[in-house]
Amino acid sequence: MTTRECFIGIDFGKTHVRFAVAEEQPDLKSFTKRRYQRDTPDGMLRQIFEGIDAALSETGYAREELKGIGMAVPAVVDRGTGVIAWGPDWDFLPGTSLTKPIAERYGVPVVADVDTVMATWGEHWAGLGQDCDRFVLLAWGTGLGTGVVLDGQVQEFPDNLFPEFGHSRVSDDDWSCNCGATGCVDAMVGGPGIARYGRLAVERGEPTLLHALCGNDPECLAAHMVFDAADRGDAVATAILERVAVLLGRLCSNAVLTFQPQKIVIAGGLAKRSPRLLETINRTMREGCWLLFKGLSDCEVICSHLGDRAGVLGAIRKARQVAIPGLTHGSGEAAMHARH
Ligand SMILES: [Zn+2]
Repeated sequence: MTTRECFIGIDFGKTHVRFAVAEEQPDLKSFTKRRYQRDTPDGMLRQIFEGIDAALSETGYAREELKGIGMAVPAVVDRGTGVIAWGPDWDFLPGTSLTKPIAERYGVPVVADVDTVMATWGEHWAGLGQDCDRFVLLAWGTGLGTGVVLDGQVQEFPDNLFPEFGHSRVSDDDWSCNCGATGCVDAMVGGPGIARYGRLAVERGEPTLLHALCGNDPECLAAHMVFDAADRGDAVATAILERVAVLLGRLCSNAVLTFQPQKIVIAGGLAKRSPRLLETINRTMREGCWLLFKGLSDCEVICSHLGDRAGVLGAIRKARQVAIPGLTHGSGEAAMHARH
């Protein structure tokens, strides 16, 4: 009888947590999404234990076949101890280690990292970054998280920090950002930023479907309404998204000049709405980057196809990294992808 080994990836969003199981390949044996309650540390652990036990039960793996667990969290987390420091949406668990009690209960290594870093691991293992030694990930959703792979390695910085060039300034606008600075691209292109552009257009009385979509209450305006209006040919909404695409394109110019990536991959909750913006993003990026317009780089901005699975895939890949010392990118994956 062959011995099976499995790993579990957990990815916390704002309201839902995803659980997935895989072995050594990035094909998921199960993927489930559950709503979770923000709770005390004990309450959070109870919900995590339930999710892990359900994932093992659904896939038929025995507890002793589980070899490691990875967890993506929307917060700065100490990679050594798993202690949560802070996060704009995760301010209810400071000083708590979620990894230690999980490791004690299941008797396996448990690793936690910020969600953007885990998504970068996932894109490198299973997505469009898998055949790249150098690529940049933009996690586009409520903000703009960033990840970087250089020389085939996901970049993880000291003091549990991570690449933060989503907070670069690419506009004269002085909108306040969650980080405390003003004018960050994060504040303008994230969901709340897109909603704000829409709200301002409504308040100015511009002729747009957004009036009806928000029920004539600008405070109710959400980013998806701007995308929906643009999909219906609304000129005001289209111009807002064009502006967002230009800002993203400028950020991508800076990313190419700084990291010289082979690709820039847009992931995150808004990635599925990004294809309509890719032409403007790529054009703006090329116009602002001499490496591109002189033909010294052929970097292109593309849209991830991993959907909301990048985080769990990355968490599983990083759990394997911790459980199997010396594992390198590509090993154990049956040479699925030619590398150079
Ligand atoms: Zn910022």
